[in-house]
Parts: sequence; structure tokens; C-alpha cells
Amino acid sequence: MNVQPGEQANEEIEITTRSPEETRSLGEILGRNINQKTTISLSGDLGAGKTVFVQGLARGLEVPSDYTITSPTYTIVNEYPGRLKLFHADLYRISGGISGAAELFDIGFEEFYEANGVIVVEWANRLAPGELKEDLAVSISTVDDLTRTFILFFYGRGKTNLINLLKKTFEISNPDNPET
Ligand code: ADP
Ligand code: MG
Repeated sequence: MNVQPGEQANEEIEITTRSPEETRSLGEILGRNINQKTTISLSGDLGAGKTVFVQGLARGLEVPSDYTITSPTYTIVNEYPGRLKLFHADLYRISGGISGAAELFDIGFEEFYEANGVIVVEWANRLAPGELKEDLAVSISTVDDLTRTFILFFYGRGKTNLINLLKKTFEISNPDNPET
């Protein structure tokens, strides 16, 4: 790939997990590699594994294990202490009607953006494209009872080492990139 100075080179990887625990370790590895303010969007049907993924992310961010991470469907956002603060939002109930941006403002998203933390948003696809300005977009599809495919889309450059680590650790479902 030939990148011009100042140009953004996005990177995508597709991973298959075959158990909830494997999805947790995917989230954990990503969490461990986050050292600065980051926003992550999660899309996928009910039961795809968005919350399970966040449980792993929390481990990687060293959220104390006495916190139980569940979908914040009724509170909309939960906040956890960790190496970086973790803000876990679920927009399931935020659908049509009011514009996503206005809703996010109501929830107090501005404040989360200003905190030097990690924002992870379930049902981010309910927002207009581009609204969240995420650094990583995760789409999860259910294949069967225990199998899920993850498309991880990293915006911007500099994730090559992390992506290589993921390639070594997990089953890659689109090895159309032969340089491994
Ligand atoms: P969502 O938040 O996307 O609605 P959850 O994370 O709450 O979904 O639930 C996912 C469900 O799917 C859990 O019951 C989990 O045990 C099950 N599951 C089965 N296989 C997997 C897998 N490979 N990854 C994640 N969850 C899985
Ligand atoms: Mg959930």
C-alpha cells in the first residue's frame, strides 16, 4: 500500500470466533492495546456478541473484575474505572425520530468525548453515518450458535502491529491479503 504523507490509510480485518470466551479475548487484546482516547462503534443483531466483546475490552482496560458488564439498555451509558475510563453506551432504544446528534447531546456525549477515555457504543448503526467519528468500527455477524464473524475497520494509520498480532492470534476469515 502506498500512502502519501498526511493521507489516512484505513485497515480492515475479518476474524471468526467460535465461543463467547474467544470473543472476550478478542476484546481484551484490543483493550490492552488502547493507550489513548478511543471511540469504538459496535453493530450487529441482538445476541451477536456486542456486550460479550465489551466484557473483554473491559478486561484489557483493567476494569476491576468485580464490575459486571451488561448492556446498559436502560441507563444508556455506564461508566467504569480502568486504565482509561470506559464509557459503555447502548443506543438500542434510540431509533428514528430525533436526530442522533441531538440524542447524543442529550445523553451527555460531549462530556465523554472530553474525558480521556474509551467510548464503546452498541447499536452505533442507529446513528447517521459519520456521527460518532469512531476510531474503530466493529460489525458482528452471527454464523451459528457459537460462531461469529467480526469485521474490524480501523480508521487511520498505525495499527499494523496490532493487526498482525490479531492475525497471529485469531482465525482470519478473509485471507485475501496474502502478506502474513
Ligand atoms: P448483544 O450485546 O450483541 O445483543 P450479547 O453479547 O449480549 O449480544 O450476547 C451474545 C450471546 O451469544 C451470549 O449469550 C453468548 O454466550 C452467545 N455467544 C455464542 N457464541 C458466541 C461468540 N462466538 N461470541 C460472542 N457471543 C457468543
Ligand atoms: Mg448488548
